[in-house]
Amino acid sequence: MIATSPNLKAISVVGVGYDHVHVETCRERGIAVGHTPGILSDTTADMTMALLLATARNIVPAYNHVQVSKQWKYYDPNILWGTDVHHATLGIVGMGRIGHAVAKRARAFDMRVLYYKRERRPDWEEELGVEYVTFENLLEVSDFVTLHVPLTEETTHLIGEAELALMKKTAILVNIARGPVVDHYALYDALKQGQIAGAAVDVTEPEPINTDHPLLSLDNVIVAPHLGSATVQTRMKMATMAMENLLAGLKGEQLPYGVLQPNFPR
Ligand code: NAP
Repeated sequence: MIATSPNLKAISVVGVGYDHVHVETCRERGIAVGHTPGILSDTTADMTMALLLATARNIVPAYNHVQVSKQWKYYDPNILWGTDVHHATLGIVGMGRIGHAVAKRARAFDMRVLYYKRERRPDWEEELGVEYVTFENLLEVSDFVTLHVPLTEETTHLIGEAELALMKKTAILVNIARGPVVDHYALYDALKQGQIAGAAVDVTEPEPINTDHPLLSLDNVIVAPHLGSATVQTRMKMATMAMENLLAGLKGEQLPYGVLQPNFPR
């Protein structure tokens, strides 16, 4: 988003990611930018676990089997086998506020939790029993990989053909960060060829995803329409924070939850 209005004073993002705002242009033009960090971390972590569990335990195919195609005629012990989540290994890529909240939930499922970010967090290792590993090592040994990095130049297509090739054939990928963090054509190929077992994406490239995108033809992927923070309680809190940011920005005051403050001290 590049602001063209000469009167624009403030941009208030209702969300934590602000990759769609051209912050440097705002800095040059003295436009304040605010967002809503923290308040949505638990809700987005809940959704991460929902997508992970739904993929691992075939919730969408089960729904289709019973309610859409009405094929459930008798108890069949041989259909829709999933994979265990408990005691499996989770790799968290980009462990910040949301990744930390995911790690807490995963530990309650008795999962082994690995994480990768640029700056190690020994305090979180102590608190949650999570293990710091390299990006490549995380991809190689994880049963589930969840993505929580912001979208930047460095994280664009962070997961592509080479990275998917490192993952286990039984692995499940969850992208709840931003669509372009994953190369969707490489993901399609990996899912189609059985390079990984499944995926769930809450965010796509572009958004909304094109209805003829090949990813939508696969039955081992769940595509959700960017629902990470979409609960009544959290959306109300986000709206309040965004309004507080906007009012402060219009008055030229310090934003309570600022990315870029008026007059530019960060
Ligand atoms: P955060 O607290 O800033 O955490 C982001 C983490 O990513 C940090 O720990 C950072 O650690 C790490 N990181 C940044 N660049 C990296 C890189 N190149 N390689 C590896 N790690 C990197 O942000 P958050 O509040 O958890 O939110 C994360 C993102 O989730 C947001 O930016 C947004 O795009 C997305 N999100 C999506 C939804 C949804 O509805 N789907 C909802 C909320 C947020 P280091 O600096 O140490 O690397």
